[in-house]
Amino acid sequence: MSLLHHLTARIRADGPVSVADYMRECLLHPQFGYYTTRDPLGAQGDFTTAPEISQMYGELIGLALAQCWLDQGAPAPFTLAELGPGRGTLMADLLRATRGVPGFHAAMQLCLIEASPKLRRTQAGTLHAYAPEWLDTAEALPDQPLLLVANEFFDALPVRQFIRSGDQWSEKRIGLTGGTLAFGLSPAAPQPALDHRLQDTQEGDLVEICDAAAPVIQAIASRIATHGGAALIADYGDWRALGDTLQALRAHQPADPLQAPGEADLTAHVDFEALAMSAKSNGCAFTRLTPQGVFLERLGITDRARALAAPLQGEPLESLIAAHRRLTHPDEMGNLFKILGLYPSTAASPPGLNP
Ligand code: SAH
Repeated sequence: MSLLHHLTARIRADGPVSVADYMRECLLHPQFGYYTTRDPLGAQGDFTTAPEISQMYGELIGLALAQCWLDQGAPAPFTLAELGPGRGTLMADLLRATRGVPGFHAAMQLCLIEASPKLRRTQAGTLHAYAPEWLDTAEALPDQPLLLVANEFFDALPVRQFIRSGDQWSEKRIGLTGGTLAFGLSPAAPQPALDHRLQDTQEGDLVEICDAAAPVIQAIASRIATHGGAALIADYGDWRALGDTLQALRAHQPADPLQAPGEADLTAHVDFEALAMSAKSNGCAFTRLTPQGVFLERLGITDRARALAAPLQGEPLESLIAAHRRLTHPDEMGNLFKILGLYPSTAASPPGLNP
């Protein structure tokens, strides 16, 4: 059995599946899913992420969240949470950087929201000293002040894809052509969730919606609005996405998303406007969407890099300089990745981000 067999059997029995159903099966199928069966990160894996590039990333995120906590009167207890912590690297760097913030660690309850049993085991290895609790969903977060980070989490949530046809929409689906997975289209139908996209699209344009993001944002934003705290959401995408952004990566190379299901990472760009609007409807304020490079420079990444560089020479120095460039330069991750902050409307916006 393989995921391809499973998908083929499912499509034969029930007909074509949505792009979201396909993504969900590929990423999280209990037996064959991409995240459920492997650690995809790093040089040996399929892709790398900001926290895996340099410790500076998690450190600066940690200090920004600790500053939010101090600005809001150091509430105790509070939840420190991460969505999709991968190897636990960001959280380990965050926790090391905040050791010196008086009372922060004593007041925190560490919660990790992770779907992959394999990555939970890796996180347990990295973070056991802080007694984390693993949760299946954001809805299970405690009802108390919440400081949260999500790095490259929302891009892994399944999206549906629609193509405009008059004032209606045809959904892209995955079926079988001659026994092979192939894209097709459902008949056009009205889609009330896409009414706002009738203004900025034309006949034949493709738009994506991520139904899975709204309940997560609702759970986070309602806690922040009620009890205080902040969330930093980092991902690639824009304020509003247009076009097909479904992407497969395998061994650091783009791949065909329908080839070898379950063996490649599948992502879609994050539609930050949708996240901000669901935060707002749950009573939470949101910051301007800020490029990662600008955010990290404002938090002082260059000073931090200088301090780390002081004792280094040769290859370690070169790789620190390369990591700084990779995280911040507009031609690298600096512009492609964006940060959205969520915070209580009565509090100051998180450091490095404008209201
Ligand atoms: N934040 C890490 C890992 C990013 S990869 C980093 O930046 O390095 C995406 C992470 O989200 C993985 O840990 C994956 O297992 C997790 N994940 C993906 N979909 C999820 C879901 N629906 N619920 C919980 N975790 C999920």
